[in-house]
Amino acid sequence: MNLPKKVTIVEVGPRDGFQNEKQFIPTEKKIEIVNALARAGLKNIEVSSVVHPKAVPQLVDAEEVMSKIDRLPGVSYRLLAPNMKGVQRALALRPDEINLMMSVTESHNRSNANRSIEESLKEFETMVPMILEKGIAVSGGMACGFGCPFEGKVAVAQIERVADRYVAMGIKGVGLADTVGFASPKQVYDTVAHLLDQYPDVQWLLHLHNHRDLALANILAAMQAGITQFDAAIGGLGGCPYAPKAAGNVATEDLVNMLAEMGIETGVDLDALLEVGEMVRRVIPHPPGSALLKAGKPWVLAKAPDCQTKIG
Ligand code: ZN
Repeated sequence: MNLPKKVTIVEVGPRDGFQNEKQFIPTEKKIEIVNALARAGLKNIEVSSVVHPKAVPQLVDAEEVMSKIDRLPGVSYRLLAPNMKGVQRALALRPDEINLMMSVTESHNRSNANRSIEESLKEFETMVPMILEKGIAVSGGMACGFGCPFEGKVAVAQIERVADRYVAMGIKGVGLADTVGFASPKQVYDTVAHLLDQYPDVQWLLHLHNHRDLALANILAAMQAGITQFDAAIGGLGGCPYAPKAAGNVATEDLVNMLAEMGIETGVDLDALLEVGEMVRRVIPHPPGSALLKAGKPWVLAKAPDCQTKIG
């Protein structure tokens, strides 16, 4: 198998996860969880999203969370900012990185950002220099890269249209999302192999929702094509309004476990991460979407019974 030695995981649970919870998670719990994630070894954490509180009421405390977390050295604390107003607020919070986000399909971008693709790109073209000027890193996300809830299949040209503009703006890290969990491993392999070939200087990252239980299979396919950066969410939090009953993101602990079992380094301490998973379990009113929080770590052996205890 063609596998990387090392993979970078970006923890998006505090943003993508919490924003999808119906019940408000107390600010101090959010801060505790972000701090615990950093201590478990996650070097990249998306802390919150700076959006209008009416759009995402769950993240109304973005400023407070960002200003009260411990800023561990060596950890990149990132904020999502979907528009100019968000960027202006985000800059004041001195994140290490600002992640911009738009969709590669017209109807999803209109429903999500209330703008055409061209309008989003034009706005980003004025936002990116403002961010870079402050010495803050910038990355660009693309929703619906592997399928759209309104338009169905997405041609690779739709990804390239946005990627070309991102590259021209000076964005080096580009995240491609399977927002509605439509992707399958072969589709992921073919798409990212093509993109890695076309854009050798872009640092591609995948954001894969586990709506149809294919996220880990898709990650395996992506690694074989050469991708080494993935978003994941503690407890498998997250989701999408177009698949309300579905699972969320790939669970960070499930991903860390798979990679550790394959000898791929992530720098994350799985025991510490599972403790964070338990913290998350205590603040959400539903079972987490995480195999490891259910089954526990592998290779924890039971004592064999002295004799057969069950008959029949
Ligand atoms: Zn997501």
